[in-house]
Amino acid sequence: MKQIIIIGGSYAGLSALKALVGKLSPSLTSATSVTITLLEPKTGIINLLGLPKSIVDSSFADDIYSPLHQYNMKFDSIRIADKEDGRTDITATKLSLSNQETHSEFLTVNFIQTKCSKLTAKEAHYVDPVSNQPAILKFDYCVLASGRARPDVPFDPISKAHHICNKEDFLKQQRQQQDLIEKANTVTVIGGGALGIETAGELLQQYGKVKKIRLIHPYPRLLPEPVLKNDEFRDKILEQLVKLGCEVLMELRVVAERANGNLKIQSPKGEYEIESELNYWCHSYVNNLEPLSNNLELFEDCLTGKEHLNPKRRCANVNEFLQLAPISDPKNLFEKIYAVGDLVALPILKTSGGAVYMGGLAAGNIAMQILGNSEDLTEFPLSQWPPNMAVVVGTKVTLQVVDGVVVVNDKSLLAMYADYCTSRFGQTINIEFGSKRV
Ligand SMILES: Cc1cc2nc3c(=O)[nH]c(=O)nc-3n(C[C@H](O)[C@H](O)[C@H](O)COP(=O)(O)OP(=O)(O)OC[C@H]3O[C@@H](n4cnc5c(N)ncnc54)[C@H](O)[C@@H]3O)c2cc1C
Repeated sequence: MKQIIIIGGSYAGLSALKALVGKLSPSLTSATSVTITLLEPKTGIINLLGLPKSIVDSSFADDIYSPLHQYNMKFDSIRIADKEDGRTDITATKLSLSNQETHSEFLTVNFIQTKCSKLTAKEAHYVDPVSNQPAILKFDYCVLASGRARPDVPFDPISKAHHICNKEDFLKQQRQQQDLIEKANTVTVIGGGALGIETAGELLQQYGKVKKIRLIHPYPRLLPEPVLKNDEFRDKILEQLVKLGCEVLMELRVVAERANGNLKIQSPKGEYEIESELNYWCHSYVNNLEPLSNNLELFEDCLTGKEHLNPKRRCANVNEFLQLAPISDPKNLFEKIYAVGDLVALPILKTSGGAVYMGGLAAGNIAMQILGNSEDLTEFPLSQWPPNMAVVVGTKVTLQVVDGVVVVNDKSLLAMYADYCTSRFGQTINIEFGSKRV
């Protein structure tokens, strides 16, 4: 019996789970049975792409959440936090245990609502959600897909301050955000990366005529990602923001937020304060690498970023097959631990599509290893990975750079982003978003 664990159930993790079930189920026998366990702190998945829209239109929050029982797959066991905690998702449990798409009797699929706190080469440590006691799960193969954390609410659904565990928590939080926006006259977005641009875009589309919407960015151009080599794209995005009435302040650094919302600014001319009532910090992220960083003795050499200006920007180093690899001794790799999605140290633009792709690729490689074809592992196509990117400014303006060419308002992209790619993503991995079957 082989044990596979997947750490993180978002784009990369869920894609890995679905692909593993699809690839293994037809080939297993009593002699090659497999158990897959998904460890994820939420009893569902949020299509993060729609988060900016869900704070200005809280009804949209419902559309971008898919609870476990809408995953179109059978879980053989589900361990979720108990009722006293106010987090129970009983409906999800009952429905998922008896769910539609079944799999081979030699495959077991389990879900545990938890965060993995530490990995070893063969074990995952976590707190059991039912007993609240530390627990250990042994594994033969592991997919690390724990992604990235943003500064705070509402862009980090599992931030420490506001722990989102189920759909109810999520809808409540997004409603609160909309109430705060309704009350504010000036809303400032801090950081002009993709998240900041899309947040400002949604605020402008919904409230641009009645509120002051401001974007502050510390550099001379938007989108600081070094992998993106196209200033025309950056300039056109700026043009669209300004056209919609955004006050864009470049080359200014926000150093503090006052209790009343005002912002302390640092500029070459000195420090001063500007008025603001509500602020969205979209300036940074940290990769969720606790499972590795809590075992530096074993994994320190697999973490990049020690030399980086910002030590929080660490990534998991992988080889061409997405197996976890030490930097100074790549041949001595962890061939049964895969890292996928936003947290990997690959020089590509990190996207949800890329995470889904990597999850599927790792799943395929694990299936190969289990079914005895370790020689045929698939490589991540790094040299062919296009540096293409799409950004929306509200749902009525899309900008993309495809093979170096900037395209504004491409019809198919506009259609895809009308629901922030929710239906497309749902179809890709066969899960249902929204309240269709609750
Ligand atoms: C607001 C917003 C808008 C975006 N817009 C776009 C866009 O338009 N297009 C695009 O392509 N990309 C966009 N992105 C980026 C895209 O969402 C990411 O590339 C994608 O989420 C990466 O997927 P992932 O599965 O690697 O990680 P994540 O989506 O970050 O998922 C990680 C999962 O792991 C779980 N987790 C974390 N720590 C642990 C742990 N210790 N144990 C167990 N589970 C854990 C988390 O709960 C989460 O479910 C956007 C991101 C945000 C936040």
